[in-house]
Amino acid sequence: MAPASNSISSQRVAVIGAGAAGLVAARELRREGHTAVVFDREKQVGGLWVYTPKAESDPLSLDPTRHVVHSSVYESLRTNLPRECMGFRDFPFVPRGDDVSRDPRRYPSHREVLAYLQDFAREFKIEEMVRFETEVVRVEPINGKWRVLSRNSGGLSEDEIFDAVVVCSGHYAEPSVAQIPGVESWPGKQIHSHNYRLPDPFEDEVVVVIGNFASGADISRDISKVAKEVHIATKSSPDTYEKLSGDKNNLWKHSQIDIAREDGTIVFQNGKVVHADTIVHCTGYKYYFPFLDTNGYMSVDDNRVEPLYKHIFPPAFAPGLSFIGLPAMGLQFYMFEVQSKWVSAVLSGRVTLPSVDKMMEDMMLSYETLEALGIPKRYTHKLGKSQCEYLDWIADECGFSHVEHWRDQEVVRGYKRLVDQPETFRDEWDDDDLMEEAYEDFSTQNL
Ligand code: FAD
Repeated sequence: MAPASNSISSQRVAVIGAGAAGLVAARELRREGHTAVVFDREKQVGGLWVYTPKAESDPLSLDPTRHVVHSSVYESLRTNLPRECMGFRDFPFVPRGDDVSRDPRRYPSHREVLAYLQDFAREFKIEEMVRFETEVVRVEPINGKWRVLSRNSGGLSEDEIFDAVVVCSGHYAEPSVAQIPGVESWPGKQIHSHNYRLPDPFEDEVVVVIGNFASGADISRDISKVAKEVHIATKSSPDTYEKLSGDKNNLWKHSQIDIAREDGTIVFQNGKVVHADTIVHCTGYKYYFPFLDTNGYMSVDDNRVEPLYKHIFPPAFAPGLSFIGLPAMGLQFYMFEVQSKWVSAVLSGRVTLPSVDKMMEDMMLSYETLEALGIPKRYTHKLGKSQCEYLDWIADECGFSHVEHWRDQEVVRGYKRLVDQPETFRDEWDDDDLMEEAYEDFSTQNL
């Protein structure tokens, strides 16, 4: 652990976002003695888990002037990991209360996740720290502090100075769209999963879904219930062609798209040709911080946010500026909690960071390691199997506990099930042993 300082200081901190990351960041900052002001554009806590039937006016979300709808949640969404491993360390995501509106399933619907986050906010009195319907429009460094410009729904602007800013704005609102040769003259419709809500508009259509991980696998099956045919384009080998089981026997898996043609057809690398009505891009998202002005110090290049030490601190601005939640996939809420504990402890001076040079050196080394492993730059923030090592390293820095065995293994086995049995993984599992271990652990916490 880094040496502790004797002088503990209390900072005034702006937190951008009241999703899972912002909520736990606010709690940890307050626990550490800081004053946090949380800004959120929306009317309530929960971030992307606040479902709305509304989608953006531009179905591919390419128009920079569009009104941004934050949530990417679709009506049928259930969690893609078991609830036990999704929760915060000291506030497990277990079925709570007898309310019939709650969803006790192990892989509950998005509404249950929102209810959990609302419970968390209530339990730790976070809402009193939040300025709802207030968008942060600009953040910039000024004389060692941070200038934060915000605007509320009434159009009222505020210009304030904070000691530090913690960015918790999420990274599932700026879609990444697949580049398809010939698509400019292809006559069909296109939509990104960010704007997908219900299958109804695809009734009797032939639909091509690009991507076959969590959202792609779900959405293709959702649409196949009403569509004529659904064809999934995947990154698997060029000769991939497989009929998948589905409710209506109308689902195929292909290789990537080769070309989209003017006559409405889509040609896959496996040589198959379909006449499609719609392409659904389940192709992920880009990191995007339109409010941040660091005078060119920070950038997002090929989806790498840089420079960042341990995916959190831009060295020259540390610890005044930090990012919670950038590493995608795997343990999310738990990671937000651990990262928030570290940021809070560093801000108070209880824990110190290495010098700017050492942080840059560490970052460069991590980039070199990725390169040596042949991992593309755009996957910089995908930690994969190294996530637990990363979390335990941070935990050691700030005196927190390591990831529990059951939590780590639920993710490993959960993702394997998701890939191996995309239709049934939420209702059929073989890791009761891990679930029992988790509940045993929760019971020792007197919750
Ligand atoms: P968000 O929840 O996106 O919250 C960010 C908040 O910041 C929002 O409330 C937004 O309004 C606010 N904001 C943004 N910009 C501004 C601004 N300029 N001013 C003011 N406010 C602003 N993870 C799991 O663990 N399990 C799952 O099953 C799972 N399923 C998922 C399914 C989908 C479709 C997606 C897209 C993601 C899923 N995830 C899942 C990952 C998800 O990212 C995390 O669970 C988590 O909820 C993200 O929390 P966050 O706080 O980082 O971001």
